[in-house]
Amino acid sequence: MNAALETLKTAAGDLVREVPALRDFAEWPEAAPPRPCEPLAIPGIALLQAMSARTSTRTAPVVRAVKAAAPHAHWQQTYTEAEVGRDFLNRYGWFEIVGPGGHFGSHATRAYLAWWGAGLHYPVHLHEAEELYYILAGAAEFHTEGQPSAVIGPEGTRHHAPLQPHAMDTHDEPVLALVLWRGPGLAGAPRMGTS
Ligand code: ZN
Repeated sequence: MNAALETLKTAAGDLVREVPALRDFAEWPEAAPPRPCEPLAIPGIALLQAMSARTSTRTAPVVRAVKAAAPHAHWQQTYTEAEVGRDFLNRYGWFEIVGPGGHFGSHATRAYLAWWGAGLHYPVHLHEAEELYYILAGAAEFHTEGQPSAVIGPEGTRHHAPLQPHAMDTHDEPVLALVLWRGPGLAGAPRMGTS
């Protein structure tokens, strides 16, 4: 297993144990074993590594660990160019540090690192699993059905219930988030739309 990915797993686990909202949402799988998961690049890795978005004392170590792990991560992009456009795909990506398909295996919790550049619109989508975003760097405006929209920055959280439609915009800053999933649909994927 790559040392930078091990360091990131440790940093993310420390964060989840320290932050009550994260700790209450998901139990961090201490024993998650490494899985075979080869590096897979996206176009935006260098942009992410050069990102100088605001962080906090608590989130800065995790952001550093994400940047160091980025070249070794199995990056994914859920959507096609027809759905979100080329600019979005050039400045967006996520990888699963822990979970059913992650660098470290768990069938109880799924933890992603997800990144979007500034000025992107993530259209409304939904998924079966329950979700908690925790912002590590930068900020994004979250639009969740049934809730007022809100701009959330470092250490802020946003909860999405199972199948609750949500969308997101970045404005003048990029955003890097730790995203936790739990419950039925853990190994599933989001789909565009509201149903
Ligand atoms: Zn979501």
